[in-house]
Amino acid sequence: MQTPANEKRTEIGALGEFGLIRLLTNSIKLNQESSIKGVGDDAAVVNHQGKNTVITTDMLAEGIHFDLMYTPLKHLGYKAIVVNLSDIYAMNATPTQVTVSIAISNRFSVEAIEEIYEGIYVACKKYGVDLVGGDTTSSLSGLVISVTALGVANSEDLVYRNGAKPGDAICVSGDLGSAYLGLQILEREKQIYLEHPDVQPDLENEQYIIGRQLKPEARKDVIELLKEHGIKPTSMIDISDGLSSEILHICTQSGVGAKLYEDQVPISEEAYNLAIKFNLDPITCALNGGEDYELLFTVKAEDVTKLSNEWNVTVIGRIAEKSEGVTLTTKGGNVFPISAQGWDPLIKAGILDA
Ligand code: ADP
Ligand code: MG
Repeated sequence: MQTPANEKRTEIGALGEFGLIRLLTNSIKLNQESSIKGVGDDAAVVNHQGKNTVITTDMLAEGIHFDLMYTPLKHLGYKAIVVNLSDIYAMNATPTQVTVSIAISNRFSVEAIEEIYEGIYVACKKYGVDLVGGDTTSSLSGLVISVTALGVANSEDLVYRNGAKPGDAICVSGDLGSAYLGLQILEREKQIYLEHPDVQPDLENEQYIIGRQLKPEARKDVIELLKEHGIKPTSMIDISDGLSSEILHICTQSGVGAKLYEDQVPISEEAYNLAIKFNLDPITCALNGGEDYELLFTVKAEDVTKLSNEWNVTVIGRIAEKSEGVTLTTKGGNVFPISAQGWDPLIKAGILDA
C-alpha cells in the first residue's frame, strides 16, 4: 500500500487495533453541546433536548468476521444486528433503530441477499427495532455488512466503562468461551471438508456451542432485570473481544484494578468438556475467546444481594485499587496479571501477531 511521499511507514501491527483507534481519534475535540460521549465506550451519546440518543456501529467483513463456508446467510444477518444491539445494551440503553449498509459482489444472487435480510428482519422483530435506512454498494473482495444502531436512554440511566470503584462486585451474564469453541469446531470441519469433501461434517452434537458462535443474542433480558430490581451498574461493557480485554477496558477507564477468580468464571459444561478435548485450557477460552456478547458489569457491594440466582449472572471478582493491578487467582491459588489477548480482527487478518 502507498506511503505518503517523504513520510515514514509504520506497520499497523506495531499499534494494534486499539492503538490505531487511539492514534486516529485522540485529537478529536467535541464542539457540539449535544455530543455527550464520543469515541471510547461501547456507544456514543448525543443529547438533544433531554433524551439521549446512543449510537454505535460495527462492521462484519467476509473472511475476517465470518466465513461463508459455514455461516448460514440468515444467521449472518441476524448476528450483524445483534452485535450492534449488544453495544447499545452495554450503555444500559434501549435500542430503537438500525441502518444496514452492504457491499456485495456479483458472486451473490438476489436470493442470497434476501436471505441475509431475512435474518436481519428476524433480529429487528425480536429486539423491537426499526430498520430505517442504509447503503448498498459493490465490493471486489467479499461481502461487508455494516450496521449502525441507535438507542435511547435517560441521562441518569446511562452506564459508561469508567464508573467502577474499588469494592464493587464484578459480574458477568451467561457463560463465556463457548462462541470461541464453536468457531474451533466449525474451522476444524472446514479443514476436513477442504481435504475430504466426501466426509460428512461431525458437529459432535454441539448445537449449544455452535449456536453461540453463529447465532449470538444480546442481553436485553439482563438490562431489563437490573432495571426492574433497581440496580444500576457502576460500569458496563459487552464481551466482544474476551473477558481479559473487556475487564482491562473497564479498569483503565475507571482508574482501578480488579481481582478475578478462576473458579467463579462461568463456563458451560459443554464448553469445558470441548476445551479439554481440543487440548485448550477452558479458562483461556473464557478469558481470550471473545464473541460471547455477554455483559460484563460492576455493581456496588450492597447491590449484590439484589442479584437473583435465577438471572444467570455470576459474581466473578471485585474491583480493587489501581495499585493492585488486574489479576486472576487460579483454582490452585496462584495470582497472575491479566493481559489483553482478546480476539482481534487485526490478528485474524494476519496484520498483528497473536
Ligand atoms: P466495541 O468492541 O464496543 O464495538 P471498539 O473496540 O470497536 O468497540 O471501539 C472502541 C471505541 O472506538 C468505540 O467508541 C468506537 O466508536 C471507536 N472507534 C473504533 N473505530 C473507530 C474509527 N475508525 N474512527 C473513530 N472511532 C472509532
Ligand atoms: Mg462493546
